[in-house]
Order: sequence, then structure tokens, then C-alpha cells
Amino acid sequence: MNRLIMIKYGELSTKKDNINVFLKQLKKNIEFALKDYDVNIEFDKGRMFVETKDIDKVVERLQYVAGIHEYNIVYKMKYSEDIDELGQNVLEKVKDYEFNTFRVTTKRSNKKYPLESMEVSRIIGAIILKNTKDKKVDVHNPELNVNVEIRLNAIYYYFNSEEGLGGYPVTSAGKGLLMLSGGIDSPVAGYMAIKRGVKIEALYFESPPHTSIEAKNKVINLAKKLAIYNNDIKLHVINFTKIQEAIYRNIPHDYLITIMRRMMYRISEKIAHRNRCKILINGESIGQVASQTLSSMAVINEVVRIPVIRPLACFDKLDIIKISEKIDTYNISIEPYEDCCTIFVPKHPVINPEHDKCEEYEKLIEYEELIREAIANDEVIKISNEDNNKYSDLL
Ligand code: ATP
Ligand code: MG
Repeated sequence: MNRLIMIKYGELSTKKDNINVFLKQLKKNIEFALKDYDVNIEFDKGRMFVETKDIDKVVERLQYVAGIHEYNIVYKMKYSEDIDELGQNVLEKVKDYEFNTFRVTTKRSNKKYPLESMEVSRIIGAIILKNTKDKKVDVHNPELNVNVEIRLNAIYYYFNSEEGLGGYPVTSAGKGLLMLSGGIDSPVAGYMAIKRGVKIEALYFESPPHTSIEAKNKVINLAKKLAIYNNDIKLHVINFTKIQEAIYRNIPHDYLITIMRRMMYRISEKIAHRNRCKILINGESIGQVASQTLSSMAVINEVVRIPVIRPLACFDKLDIIKISEKIDTYNISIEPYEDCCTIFVPKHPVINPEHDKCEEYEKLIEYEELIREAIANDEVIKISNEDNNKYSDLL
């Protein structure tokens, strides 16, 4: 008798020819996430099994691994066609649970097993009813789900089930560069991209002394939270001060934000290419602020060719906040430190910026040289999810 973890893939299992590429990546990510534990991982047709002595800690960690649809602690018995033996084994574990109503669900991938799934469920249900007091079957909304899986070499049974993160294994989609500010939106955008299998690098624009060390620290803390899902994370910090000051001095103030964001996009595209990131990801959401009207997005986006993915484009703020609470970034995001976007905010930012004006105004600053300099000074901070205090040493 054996207690282990069974993993189901969900959406991943719709992949046909290249499913093995995804599964290999998933296994690698699980091994990485569990590297502090002694584990043995094995595939078995549509399932992955993890054996370990640290089963509770491992289960805790698996909730952060993308590509897992469901993960359960299961009991394993040797394949046997003796339904009474199975029933008694299940019954023994059922007694550990408090419940009034239950339901048995059986999956039989081993078609050689002599009984059909429905029949197995019925017999096991009857054994439970006969050997317990005051229990009832409820197929619609049971308090205890009893699951049985009859496979080729073994039979597994488990109770209730844990929903995984879903999506695809990190890195299976390639790399993307997340524009990470200290706000609520961008960490959520990063999390959403990670769940689709994108391995994230992050980029933060700072403007010292107008922005503080605390503001940077906040972004590092947000990156650490994302690292839990991303395995680890490389954070690029770009000094944006000279560019921002040049914009502030030379450009009509209603266009400050528009031009500033065009500069951010230009730099982000270059950093992405240098680091083999195929897309940019940011936390823009249609209509949220002046720089996120459709006209603003259009004139800002036109300075780059790299695809810009905006996972939150159509999300309401309240829904974004809910996700930020779930991934534990909300409380960091609402710390009050200023961002480089907030310190030079004009009173009346343009809502429908024009392409021609942007080009005309940008001629007033030598931005190409400033961009080159900023990129040459890219500070890279490598963040692993292991040691939460390690990176404060850098500051
Ligand atoms: P957030 O809550 O993520 O800060 P926001 O609603 O405040 O977003 P903006 O400040 O206009 O919106 O920024 C839009 C997006 O641009 C952010 O979600 C982020 O992806 C990116 N961005 C803004 N400021 C920075 C910065 N200092 N460094 C890196 N990316 C940034
Ligand atoms: Mg912001």
C-alpha cells in the first residue's frame, strides 16, 4: 500500500503530436519546483505520479506549477480483480473522513478489468453504506467524493481533489519580457502570461533620485512573488532618469506620458531582443488611464514591431485586484512609493494623441543616444524563489 501524488494535465492533454515536448517541460518544472525534496516522478499514460516522503510539503508546492490541472494525494494498490479487496481498502480510508453524503466515481482505463466503471462505483458505494452509519449517496453535491482509477498495473483511489493552476508549463511557449512597474496590474499580467507557458523576464524603469530605493525594492518583492510560478526570474532595471528629464524639459506637457511610454516601448523591445524574448507583456487595460485609450495605445504601440501582449486589456480593475490578492502581490503593490510614471504626471494628459505631433516633439530630444546609454547600463538582478532575504543585500 502506497501513498503518492497523482497529477492530471487538463488542457495540455488536447495536444496531439507534440504532447511529449510539453510533458517533458512539465516534468522538468516540477523537478525544479521540488528540488529541495527527495522525489521520484513517473509518467503513466495521461497521468504523472510523484512519490516522496514529504508528501504534504510537495502538495503545497505543486499549486504554483502551471500546466497541472489537478493534483491529488492517492492511495495505490496492486492491480487486482478482487472487488471486495478494493472495497475494503477504500472503506478503511473513508473512515478517516467526516461526511454525511458521498459519491463514488470510477474511471477504468484498463478495459480488461471485468467490471464496468458504473458497477465498480455501485459495489464500492454499497460496501461503504453497509459498513458505516447514517451515510447517504448524493451524486450531485456530495460532501465526500470517492474516486477510483483502475489502470493497467495498479488501482488508485482518492478523496476530493485539488485544482491546479491549469494552463501550460512555463517555458513551453518561449520567453517574454514583462514591463513590471510597482502597480497592481503588471504583476497580474505577468502571472497570466506565465500560466500560458511564457517564461518571464521582467523590466523595471527607475528614475533615481525622483524614484526611491523603496520603490525599486517593491518591484523586487513583486518579482519574487512571480518567481514562485516562473521557477526564477531575471529582473532588468533600466535607469530612465535622463530620458525622463529630457522629455520633461523639452516636450509640451500634455504629451509627456505619451512620449515617455513610446521611449519605454523602444527600450523594452531592444532589451527583449537581446534576451531572446519574443513578446512584450504589460498591464495595460483599455480605458484605465489617458495612456490606455485606444488612440494612446495605437500611437504608443507604433514605435515597436515586437508583439505586445496585454493580458488585462479587457479586465475590470476589481477582477484584476482579485487575482492580485490570490497571487499575494496586492499588499506589496499598494505600498505608497512613487513610480516613475506618477512623478511627472501632467495635469491634462492628451487623450487622443496624434502620430505627427509625437514625431515632431521627439525631434526635440536626442533620444537615440539616451536610449543607447540606458540600455548599456542595464542592471540585471537574478531572483530565485528560495531565499527571500538574499536580494535586499543588493540594495
Ligand atoms: P500598473 O498598475 O501595473 O502600474 P497602471 O495602471 O498604473 O499599471 P501605467 O502606469 O500607465 O498603468 O502603466 C501601464 C503599464 O506599463 C504597466 O502595467 C506596466 O506594464 C508598464 N509600466 C508602467 N510603468 C513602468 C515602469 N516604471 N517600469 C516598467 N514598466 C512600467
Ligand atoms: Mg503604474
